[in-house]
Amino acid sequence: MNTHNQPSRRTFVTGALVACAAASVPTHLYAAAELDFPLIDLHVHLDNSSIAQVLPLSIERNVKFGIVEHAGTKENKYPVVLSNDDQLRARNKMLDDKGVYKGIQTEWHDWAKCFSKEALAELDYILTDTMTFPGKDGSRIKLWENGVTDRVDISNKEAFMDRYVDWHLQIINEQPIDLLANVSWLPAPLADQYDAFWTDKRIQRVLDAALKHRVAIEISSSFKLPKIKFLKATKEAGLKFSFGSNGRYPNMGKLDYSIQLAKDLGLKASDMFTPAPNGQRAAQRRNY
Ligand SMILES: [Zn+2]
Repeated sequence: MNTHNQPSRRTFVTGALVACAAASVPTHLYAAAELDFPLIDLHVHLDNSSIAQVLPLSIERNVKFGIVEHAGTKENKYPVVLSNDDQLRARNKMLDDKGVYKGIQTEWHDWAKCFSKEALAELDYILTDTMTFPGKDGSRIKLWENGVTDRVDISNKEAFMDRYVDWHLQIINEQPIDLLANVSWLPAPLADQYDAFWTDKRIQRVLDAALKHRVAIEISSSFKLPKIKFLKATKEAGLKFSFGSNGRYPNMGKLDYSIQLAKDLGLKASDMFTPAPNGQRAAQRRNY
């Protein structure tokens, strides 16, 4: 019970959040991670939690958050799918003055037409992944779901892998994205042979496209991907990196793998993606 005229713990935390929102992340918040840049988790899902529940975790874990919601047509099944400008702007308004970046997570190739270019340009960044893939009948298939081999032809794994890399290139070359997330993830039938399927040549094809369109590569702490071989090539190619937890409440901001690999690679502030200023976002500089 707060029996004195002192600010309560709740008041203090709220005040700290306001201070955090007003400035860039203070130095002491990331020095503990032995990195020379602030920790930012650009892959945080609110889903059915609230921003009020999530913000204390940002303080507790010393990580600034970028909030993404799934966005695109309603054929993408998630707890929340933003599908038009009004929904997108209402979500953005809800995040105003909360000290977070505003992003969306897209998939497939039909999401951009759900929104005006003006509304997409109001986002700090757009993130996508390649885990929704054309099935045997051409329909969108979530490669992580059970029974995927019934719906996607993976009988010849090498042939599938070539089509999968082509799919990466199609997404990167055609969609106005700032970040590629869950990079190098493989469906279950291939996952235990990562190094065999992610050959240098395949990695380079993905990285060349990303470099051409200035798409940054996420180091995912949820999937612990990409592995070091892929990330070394990413650094050599001169691409930028982001950190992502893919976290739902209460797991946002848990970035152990991202931090460890950043240390292993010797990443500096100049290697890290930060949301581009207005006018330079993918939604503004890309033709789509
Ligand atoms: Zn996600």
